[in-house]
Amino acid sequence: MVAQGFTVDLNKPLVFQVGHLGESYQEWVHQPIVSKEGPRFFGSDFWEFLTRTEWWVIPIVWLPVVCWFVSKSIVMGHTLPQIALTVVTGIGVWTLLEYTLHRFLFHIKTKSYWGNTIHYLLHGCHHKHPMDGLRLVFPPAATAVLCLPFYNFFKLISTPSTAPALFGGGLLGYVMYDVTHYYLHHGQPTSEVPKNLKKYHLNHHFRIQNKGFGITSSLWDKVFGTLPTSMPAEKSR
Ligand SMILES: [Zn+2]
Ligand SMILES: [Zn+2]
Ligand SMILES: [Zn+2]
Repeated sequence: MVAQGFTVDLNKPLVFQVGHLGESYQEWVHQPIVSKEGPRFFGSDFWEFLTRTEWWVIPIVWLPVVCWFVSKSIVMGHTLPQIALTVVTGIGVWTLLEYTLHRFLFHIKTKSYWGNTIHYLLHGCHHKHPMDGLRLVFPPAATAVLCLPFYNFFKLISTPSTAPALFGGGLLGYVMYDVTHYYLHHGQPTSEVPKNLKKYHLNHHFRIQNKGFGITSSLWDKVFGTLPTSMPAEKSR
């Protein structure tokens, strides 16, 4: 198509332009523009509105849903220690999902028009404008759609009465992930652990984009060998 020599006009809506970059999309999307001012996505005000999400919308929308799912398992007769263990397990399952989604789906290599367009909406936009605070957390409407297959997945790996609490834990893990991710970009951590996490994630954005996929921890990067090697040798853990 128009691939060769196509230039994106940053002053025009981006979403239907990036597909034309073809093979050079990957290179373009990994050259970050560090401004708090985000780009326009769509020409239509309605669609544009749907692409903007404040970070605090995430806990407000999803924590009640977490409570609802957890209470379902309580009503079905589980004791509180059982519930607590199930929720913690759900959070653990989420951390693996977080790593897997980020590494294999969000960083899938695309070059076709629609491949690039969908990748841009999913994760590319965050790498192009990492400081755009309204395009950082996941829009609840999109999360709601993804909840369905994931609930079925959680049902598959558990029993009918534990599935709701397990899923609730997974969803709680997601909320913690999205809020943490926002904090790592826009917060100014002073204590050791969040400071290192911030450094770890900014390293994924600005130095080695095919390493360091964990956001809330580097656990799965260690397990699957995607720990960035040239991290400054800090921390005395
Ligand atoms: Zn990424
Ligand atoms: Zn990327
Ligand atoms: Zn990020």
